[in-house]
Amino acid sequence: MQIAKRIENLPPYLFVTISRKIAEKRARGEEVISFGIGDPDLATPSHIIERLCQAAKDPANHRYPESEGLPELRQAIAQWYQQRFDVGLDPNAEVLPLIGSKEGIGHLAWCLLNPGDVALVPDPAYPVYSISTTLADAEPYYLPLRPENGYLPDLGAVPQTILDRAKILWICYPNNPTGAVADTAFFDRVVAFAKQHDIIVCHDGPYTEVAYDGYRPPSFLQAVGAKEVGVEFHSLSKSYNMTGWRVGMVVGNSQVIDALKRFKSNLDSGIPQAIQLAAVEALTGPQDELTLHNNIYQRRRDLMVETLRDMGLEVLLPKASLYVWAKVPPGYDSAGFASELLEQVGVVVTPGTGYGKAGEGYVRLSLTIPDASLVKGLSRLSAWKGTLGRSKNR
Ligand SMILES: *Cc1c(COP(=O)(O)O)cnc(C)c1O
Repeated sequence: MQIAKRIENLPPYLFVTISRKIAEKRARGEEVISFGIGDPDLATPSHIIERLCQAAKDPANHRYPESEGLPELRQAIAQWYQQRFDVGLDPNAEVLPLIGSKEGIGHLAWCLLNPGDVALVPDPAYPVYSISTTLADAEPYYLPLRPENGYLPDLGAVPQTILDRAKILWICYPNNPTGAVADTAFFDRVVAFAKQHDIIVCHDGPYTEVAYDGYRPPSFLQAVGAKEVGVEFHSLSKSYNMTGWRVGMVVGNSQVIDALKRFKSNLDSGIPQAIQLAAVEALTGPQDELTLHNNIYQRRRDLMVETLRDMGLEVLLPKASLYVWAKVPPGYDSAGFASELLEQVGVVVTPGTGYGKAGEGYVRLSLTIPDASLVKGLSRLSAWKGTLGRSKNR
């Protein structure tokens, strides 16, 4: 049997490798505490689940959904954008529900990139931007995100030969994996850059609702002219603890939305309707649990940052996202430090290099772990500091 080259050349998804390592350790009876994947540990709010159960019992929802999504979901998304960001959207032309935003992010490359085109992709980043680019026979050109630039890409540093071939630009704020945030002034610069070089902007923003200390992250679409040059992906996964239900959306430029709609209508048959109705409930129902959840994450963030700083690691306090991005101690690289923590204290952190070359020297820790495990994991990390101290003195 011969598998296609595009699959043979595909690396296993980052977390597949990590999950395998954890499973091996657990099979040996070792307890592993994982700060790996960003998957909310808290339950989906109960009013959303009740709507889902009710909708599941209605035979009208047992049939093929429309791949473009229920009108009431597109309406709810448009209304949510209006209320939250003061951004007006046409629910028929500028809104497309997705089977989780990863699905749309992955498929968009096929809609916008011809073989040989370039996609500008931040580094480090969510791996799907570059993988989908490669799958569409296009080329990622990496824009390093550096701490001295606040983890924003230096758009002025892209060479003209690349700009000539670049069709799309990926950005993501609040950022996974660095936890960095962007203001509307940055988004304004992105719009100007996109107009000047005829580049489509794809902003991935699943963390706009996961923020701390009263900070309210902006939408890319709040920048003047944003809708002319791009789209924004959003998700119910992180805001409403709905990663398992698979529902997200892309909003903005109608030509881009239309291209993805045509592509998807040929490939998938939409989001199960009961889940779409649960999503309507999430977006239009009471929002108070968002604050409760953010308060929980904020407390975890504070504990984690304090522990890491006590270990002597350099860490910024993230204003948003579910992640803490920590510099590894001198003498280690990302992978070495991550395996050291796994082997010595049974704690999983994600090596920064899993998100790109520029992630070297960092590890990412996720806040989506129950309080009791978090406390245990952090105390194991503190204990590791002792090991480092002893080895230094030897
Ligand atoms: C979690 C995440 C997503 C995917 O969210 P789904 O809607 O669950 O597919 C997309 N982008 C980034 C940066 C993420 O961290």
